[in-house]
Amino acid sequence: MKLDFRKLKLHPRESELFYLQPRGSDDLLSEVGGRFIEPLAIEIVVENTGTIFDGRGIIKTELELTCSRCLKKFAHPLAIEFEVTLVENNSGDHYSPDEGFIIFQGDEADIRSGVDEAVFMAIPISPICREDCQGLCPVCGQDKNILACSCEAETLDPRWEKLKYLE
Ligand SMILES: [Zn+2]
Ligand SMILES: [Zn+2]
Repeated sequence: MKLDFRKLKLHPRESELFYLQPRGSDDLLSEVGGRFIEPLAIEIVVENTGTIFDGRGIIKTELELTCSRCLKKFAHPLAIEFEVTLVENNSGDHYSPDEGFIIFQGDEADIRSGVDEAVFMAIPISPICREDCQGLCPVCGQDKNILACSCEAETLDPRWEKLKYLE
């Protein structure tokens, strides 16, 4: 995911627009049982401030995730705004990578770590296929989006049953 700064380096105080279409890192998604359906589409404007390269962009892609309620796979489109600060190695020792800067040498800067982080932050922890997904019945395993089951009545807490009669 490299940006070629050959032109921009010659023009301090100017910006350049870059387009990239790299593949996403699947290991980002393997933990949640997902994968990338589409490659990433990255649009990023980088400004050469004279000392650093300031990037603001948007990442678009589509993921396949597993619904945490009904366990079905579904497509989840993403559009993520992100920022990266790129610093050329010879511009001083006072920048360190753990402050969120991406250090580069030569004419090309690799933004993969910044992109991966932005995508990772955008992956839902408990993905759901749709807001009103009814999920699987914990008793019989029936997908309640397709067909209701009759387990609910039987699993009612007995204490609530008693309350019903008090009224
Ligand atoms: Zn679902
Ligand atoms: Zn059931």
